Amino acid sequence: MKVNAYGAYAGDKPLEPMQITRRETGAHDVQIDIAYCGICHSDLHQVRAEWAGTQFPCVPGHEIVGRVSAVGPHVGHFNVGDLVGIGCIVDSCRQCEECDSGLENYCDGMVGTYNFPTPDAPGWTQGGYSQQIVVHERYVLRIRHPQAQLAAVAPLLCAGITTYSPLRHWQAGPGKKVGIVGIGGLGHMGVKLAHAMGAHVVAFTTSESKREAAKVLGADEVIVSRNADEMAAHAKSFDLIIDTVAAAHDLDAYLVLLKRDGTLTLVGAPATPHPSPEVFNLIFKRRALAGSMIGGIAETQEMLDFCATHNIVSDIELIRADQINSAYERLLQGDVKYRFVVDSVTLAA
Ligand code: NAP
Ligand code: ZN
Ligand code: ZN
Repeated sequence: MKVNAYGAYAGDKPLEPMQITRRETGAHDVQIDIAYCGICHSDLHQVRAEWAGTQFPCVPGHEIVGRVSAVGPHVGHFNVGDLVGIGCIVDSCRQCEECDSGLENYCDGMVGTYNFPTPDAPGWTQGGYSQQIVVHERYVLRIRHPQAQLAAVAPLLCAGITTYSPLRHWQAGPGKKVGIVGIGGLGHMGVKLAHAMGAHVVAFTTSESKREAAKVLGADEVIVSRNADEMAAHAKSFDLIIDTVAAAHDLDAYLVLLKRDGTLTLVGAPATPHPSPEVFNLIFKRRALAGSMIGGIAETQEMLDFCATHNIVSDIELIRADQINSAYERLLQGDVKYRFVVDSVTLAA
């Protein structure tokens, strides 16, 4: 089946309209009419070949929401008309320890929603800047938010789970002081989620213009990280800091803010490495430097349900497909509050 999509033919070319092929709906497959797709900074890294190994043509997009339009005969949990989401994972080996533990995100055979090998044409997966997608039911998420919030739910599928998972793993909650670095797509979700979990939340931003805005998101305190005095006032006080910044920067500035046994968790995935941190900042106070990648399918469903219960969605700017290239430029300037979402209606011919 041919569907309209938006993608790039090379890393130095803008995205443009194209047609891609979706496989026929198999016995365990769910076919989804995509309503909206969020724009993650990972889309930009991948389609501009900032990360290694981009296959072209590349259609990004892994914050997908829409309605089920067909189901295979063996699909048990979904019906035509259901509101559903697809995040960053569309397949995995289904037999390793990670898959058995619901941690498909750490399966060596995980198939990402775009740019991963697949038997389907053209040989690598194509993402959500498109009209439809066909996915095995195991990787389909149920959306319980009201339909009116659907566009703003889309970013939960990556930005939401990528911050929810480390917040849960490192037990953010009452009595914990949690920092979120970089108040973009991931960071603004991190602030909302940590606040809903009951933590004392501190937002770190390079943008003076976000000082008040981050409080509206749920931050108890906001630090403009360029200001050394503001940073120093919080030395040795954090249990957990989640760093979402999409560019290389000095990690020591955050390590020294952790108290004993505190953890700095990196989720930002810049194209060039961070300078190696000072070892003594880890040795003193037994601090940890960690990373975290999205979340498993069960945890993504848990996050969606948590957000539905707490009435949490993303703050979005809805755009047409032909605005994706200019949205990327604005993303690079930090000029988004806080997630662009593509209205898939605008992909129609
Ligand atoms: P985004 O919306 O562009 O937000 C990144 C934020 O980082 C910016 O808004 C900005 O916030 C801050 N920042 C500070 N200095 C920056 C600089 N020189 N360049 C860019 N940003 C800077 O990006 P996102 O979609 O949240 O993604 C953030 C990173 O996480 C990306 O590298 C992405 O690939 C990665 N990611 C990782 C995972 C994972 O599984 N680990 C999942 C999704 C995304 P302030 O204005 O507040 O300073
Ligand atoms: Zn993403
Ligand atoms: Zn596996």
